[in-house]
Amino acid sequence: MTRYSAHLPLTGIGTAGQQRIRESHVVLIGVGGLGCAVAQYLVSSGVGKLTLCDYDTVAESNLARQILYRHSDIGRLKVEAASDILQTLNPETHLESINRRMTDTDMQALFPACDLVVDASDNYGTRLAVNRNCLSLEIPWVMASCIRLEGQIMLLRPDLPQTACYRCAYGSAPDTLEDCPGAGIFAPVAGISGTSAAHYALAHLSGLSVPAGLHLFDAANWQWQSLKINKNPDCKDCS
Ligand SMILES: [Zn+2]
Repeated sequence: MTRYSAHLPLTGIGTAGQQRIRESHVVLIGVGGLGCAVAQYLVSSGVGKLTLCDYDTVAESNLARQILYRHSDIGRLKVEAASDILQTLNPETHLESINRRMTDTDMQALFPACDLVVDASDNYGTRLAVNRNCLSLEIPWVMASCIRLEGQIMLLRPDLPQTACYRCAYGSAPDTLEDCPGAGIFAPVAGISGTSAAHYALAHLSGLSVPAGLHLFDAANWQWQSLKINKNPDCKDCS
């Protein structure tokens, strides 16, 4: 526990909360700008098992914001390069890698064994698939996204049936929202969004309370906005 000694005095975490983190299995979808920050904090904070899911290879254009990768990693599978560096960060975490685009079948097979899913993918279609599969399996998940100078974070609790799902918040959006490579992303904003998602994930796992709702970060004005999201009785995914 020496490694995590700074967590132990914290009200709401303590030895019991740190033990819950150590016994947790998290599935991380996407090891890009968001996912690198999420993975680094989950592993450094002692998550017991982390499954990394990504189908991409490291490109030079990733390096400004995808902080787990080195110049020498260009061309390597992201899940392999990320696993190598994460294992040196904390040998206590059991790392598992899945190198393919996650399908509904993959999610249905993988999610029941985990305590939490973190979606750090760069597209709306994957987030809707995570929403659908976490709903059917009642698995909590953290949504993180970022674009340009903006970030979004939400903890979703399908294990609590009266709470809103992701489609309740975004039901009217098209299935092809802008993705961040095309629209641009300021590197530190990916880090702020990713570390915020890591906070939500670790807080949920340890038992520390976090505010519900959708949290929007606007780096241009350095402002956070929190929106209460009600369950939509007509939602086609959760109602
Ligand atoms: Zn819904």
